[in-house]
Amino acid sequence: MVIFKKTVDLKKYIELQKNSGKLVGFVPTMGALHEGHIELLKAAKIENEVVIVSIFVNPTQFNNEEDFKKYPNTIGKDINLLEANECDVLFLPGTNEMFPAGQPKTIYELGLLENVLEGKYRPGHFQGVAQVVHLLLKKVKPKTLYLGQKDYQQCMVIKKLIQVENLPVVVKVMPTIREKDGLAMSSRNLRLSPTARQIVPKIFETLQWVAAQIKEGDVTEIKGQALGMLSKNNFKVDYLEIANSLDLTPVSTWDGYTPVVILTAAYLDDIRLIDNLPVQNFK
Ligand code: AMP
Repeated sequence: MVIFKKTVDLKKYIELQKNSGKLVGFVPTMGALHEGHIELLKAAKIENEVVIVSIFVNPTQFNNEEDFKKYPNTIGKDINLLEANECDVLFLPGTNEMFPAGQPKTIYELGLLENVLEGKYRPGHFQGVAQVVHLLLKKVKPKTLYLGQKDYQQCMVIKKLIQVENLPVVVKVMPTIREKDGLAMSSRNLRLSPTARQIVPKIFETLQWVAAQIKEGDVTEIKGQALGMLSKNNFKVDYLEIANSLDLTPVSTWDGYTPVVILTAAYLDDIRLIDNLPVQNFK
């Protein structure tokens, strides 16, 4: 695996690969890699001759300074894991490389996505995501971009970015990889205390409970009960919402056939976890 820290070196390498007709796949990450990230790499390996993974903990997408400071860093282990899984290139830029002084910051038109759910509770987060992903896409220019459904709203934001900026890239969204007890894998799980780790599978259990309960008609009662289930287990819930899968508008009365997704964000101790579950059983 080649590691590039500088854009100019990365660009030279990519140019060479593209000139020899090779397909380039790209997996952007913030490191502290786990099986969820590796599944994206594996999917990219199947469909491309060259796979580039980036690790950059993007300061502009953190609306909470403490969360940024405490974001796990396991770079030595990450490099070993990427090598073991035959990643071709690791792009590992520093902050000055991604955000050189004086570089203008674009504001993106993200519509409703910016103001609901994650957008509401993490002001500025998705502008930060859009900024960094746009910069990375301009550097890597992949044919295909691999994202995880774990970050459902983020996938929608990135698709919107690609649409508004008219970028020539295909997005592939891969399923959420979970621990055996259902907990969605996440770099932030490394920060959970042993006690909290025992409790957090309740998040996915609650989503599954909602998916099993939901039926045509008023769904506010189900949402209320699900919130209660999480609160009872000491979660501080930012939101638990049933939303239209295609635009994330909240659903209070379900018609029984519109595709919906159940999404939640909740803190246990001071660790914020998110998860989601699309509802499959349409009429
Ligand atoms: P992150 O490093 O958390 O910014 O995530 C980098 C990419 O990995 C994003 O596209 C995430 O959606 C994806 N990802 C993170 N966790 C998982 C998971 N448990 N399953 C599948 N993809 C994931």
